[in-house]
Amino acid sequence: RIAIAPSQLQQQQILLTKEQQHYLGRVLRLREGDRFIAMDGQGKSWLAQLAGEQAQVLELLSVETELPVSITLMMALPKGNGFDEVVRSCTELGVTCIAPVLSDRTLLHPSPQKLERWRRIAAEAAEQSERSFVPTILEPVAFSTGLLSVTNSQQYICVARGDSPHLKDCLQHKGQETIVIATGPEGGWTTQEVENAIAVGFQPVSLGRRILRAVTAPVVALSLITAACEV
Ligand code: SAM
Repeated sequence: RIAIAPSQLQQQQILLTKEQQHYLGRVLRLREGDRFIAMDGQGKSWLAQLAGEQAQVLELLSVETELPVSITLMMALPKGNGFDEVVRSCTELGVTCIAPVLSDRTLLHPSPQKLERWRRIAAEAAEQSERSFVPTILEPVAFSTGLLSVTNSQQYICVARGDSPHLKDCLQHKGQETIVIATGPEGGWTTQEVENAIAVGFQPVSLGRRILRAVTAPVVALSLITAACEV
């Protein structure tokens, strides 16, 4: 499987970049005439056949690997490289968009190179999970700014303590809805952050009685959503 840009597809031919030729020939050891899957990251994939520096499209594939809902994970950046693994796991689980946010207790302020790295990880994970869509990774913004961009969705904020209802009891799967789920940093959300989220329509939810690590919570939340929504 390789990801291609829509502009690489011209009249049933895929014009391969030097990197793709290297990957197919040297890494995957494909030879002339061997087949592989090309995906455009926007929902379409094709069976293709290697032909020199190009590939011939054989057929449009229609395997549906995407969830029937759109899920945005809004996650307060954890420390170290923890976000890398969250991007990888949540892409495997079917996330549509990941919005890293800086919260009051966020320890890490990422370098610009991090965004590139997360996007690369998402593309690799989408390929390996045979997804036809590569999740969007947004630029990190303050949590308060991220909250303002959320509209028209079921919105949940995961709160580790208190008596919030369990996420699994709140999810409503009626069709093609958009779900936004927010998870906090190692030190948790501040009371003010939770109140601000509730004020714009977020419902506080629990993921169970145990306190999960900041990098575990999004994976559990995504798993519960896929279990509730996948047919
Ligand atoms: N001491 C922190 C607190 O009391 O909030 C714990 C934070 S926890 C390590 C990191 C984040 O994961 C939390 O802000 C929350 O979003 C999520 N989380 C962890 N366990 C959870 C649970 N059982 N229910 C809901 N959210 C949870």
